[in-house]
Amino acid sequence: MEAYTADRSIRGKLRRRYTRLAFRKPLSLSLDRPMLTFSFDDVPATAALAGARVLEEAGLRGTFYICAGLEDGEGPMGRYGSSEDARRLVAAGHEVACHTFSHLDCGQADLSAIAADVDRNGVALAERGAADPVSFAYPYGDVSFAAKRALGGRFKTLRTVQAGLVTDGSDANQLPAVGIEGDEGEARALHWMEQAVRRKAWLILYTHDVAETPSAWGCNPGALERLARQAREAFEVVTMAQGAAKAGL
Ligand SMILES: [Zn+2]
Repeated sequence: MEAYTADRSIRGKLRRRYTRLAFRKPLSLSLDRPMLTFSFDDVPATAALAGARVLEEAGLRGTFYICAGLEDGEGPMGRYGSSEDARRLVAAGHEVACHTFSHLDCGQADLSAIAADVDRNGVALAERGAADPVSFAYPYGDVSFAAKRALGGRFKTLRTVQAGLVTDGSDANQLPAVGIEGDEGEARALHWMEQAVRRKAWLILYTHDVAETPSAWGCNPGALERLARQAREAFEVVTMAQGAAKAGL
C-alpha cells in the first residue's frame, strides 16, 4: 500500500505540524531503564512469520498494526499476512493493533470515513482474538485535526512515522517512531537507540516486511536479530500497550 504516497505538499507538511499543537494527550514518563518497542505496520506475511520469530527467539514480543482489509493480498512488500497469522500472533503474546481496515489516509479522509474504517477493522481484529485494541498507527503517518481528535478518544496511543524519542510530556496522540527501512535502516535504528539510552527515553521502531531481500520499507531478519539482541541488553522491551501503561495511560 505504500506505493501510494501521502500528501507531501507544503500544505500537507504544515497540516502535520499544526496538528502537533492540538488535541494533545501528554504522557508521563519517568524511566529507570529506557524502553523500546518493535512494531510492524500493515502487516506483510514475512513480518508475521519471520519478524515475529526473531522476536520470540530473543524472548521478546512486538506490536503488529494490522489492516484486515489487506489480508492475503499482494503488495509492494510481498503478500500480506492472513487472518490465521493474526491469530497466531495473538496466541504467541504479541500485541495486535489497529492501522485502519483499508490503509486509509487519515490526513485526507473525513471523519465519518475514518470512523467507519476503524470500526470495520475493530470487528475483524476481534474475530482474530484481538478485541478492543488500545494502539493505533496512522497509515502513511499522516494525520489531521479531525483524525487526531476522533482517534485520540478511542486509543491510548496514536503513532506516526516521524523520527524522534518519546519522553515525559510527549503527545500520545502523535507519537514519533523510527523506521528500520532501506539500506540505512539498521544504522539509523542503532543511532536512535544510543540517543534513547542516553536520555532514558522510549524508542518506538517500526518496519514492514522482514525478508532476505526486503522492499524499500522493510529489513532483513539478520538486522532485526542484531537489533533485538542489543535491545534486550540495554532496554526494557515492551509492546505499545505495555509502554502506554508505563506512561500512565
Ligand atoms: Zn502502513
